[in-house]
Amino acid sequence: MNLIIFGAPGAGKGTQAEFVSKEKGIPSISTGEIFREAVAAKTPLGIKIAEIMSKGSLVSDGIVLKIVEERIKKDDCKNGFLLDGFPRTLPQAKGFDNLLLASGKKIDEVISLDVAEENIVQRLTSRRICKKCGAKFNLETLPPKIDGVCDNCGGELFQREDDMEKTIRHRLSVYYIETQPLIEYYKSKGILVTVDGNRSVSEISQDIASLL
Ligand code: AMP
Repeated sequence: MNLIIFGAPGAGKGTQAEFVSKEKGIPSISTGEIFREAVAAKTPLGIKIAEIMSKGSLVSDGIVLKIVEERIKKDDCKNGFLLDGFPRTLPQAKGFDNLLLASGKKIDEVISLDVAEENIVQRLTSRRICKKCGAKFNLETLPPKIDGVCDNCGGELFQREDDMEKTIRHRLSVYYIETQPLIEYYKSKGILVTVDGNRSVSEISQDIASLL
């Protein structure tokens, strides 16, 4: 099963992607995560995209498509995959469709998480991530037991540079201009399902499970 989890930054895609990945036994692939790792490792790609990412702008379509094309060729994707944060522009979506078509594949379903803007800004500014194990916390809805410390592994919590309020506004405007039109694109293909993402993590997961 080839799936896409779609939504604005902070809609909860990563959290629900983990759930779907376990439920369906398919890898969850986050282009944002791949890019963050490249930036941290200072690879040639990482050096090239570091500034774009810190501003909350989009990496070029050509680079993103190439990265995804390579990633879904890996062995763990033979029974399917779940994409989180990709595609983000119409050229990415169309380029990806062509790429899949060439290998006799297709996207089975696009799960769109619909979240009100005020909830998104609140979620992103309150998001904290463990430096060591990547666990996610939210200062409002899922605070760590000890301030700044990961409940799971004791690692230090940090705020993503692009989760600062000014950058969030830019990321959201990029989302509305470049990414939101994809809703119509996938709707017209009859593969879009919309889930109300303004609820608790478990309520949203239950809804998604019933749709798959
Ligand atoms: P995310 O973790 O999905 O919010 O992605 C973090 C950042 O990575 C974005 O703000 C972009 O700079 C970059 N990025 C991730 N996925 C894409 C994509 N599909 N197209 C362009 N840029 C991307």
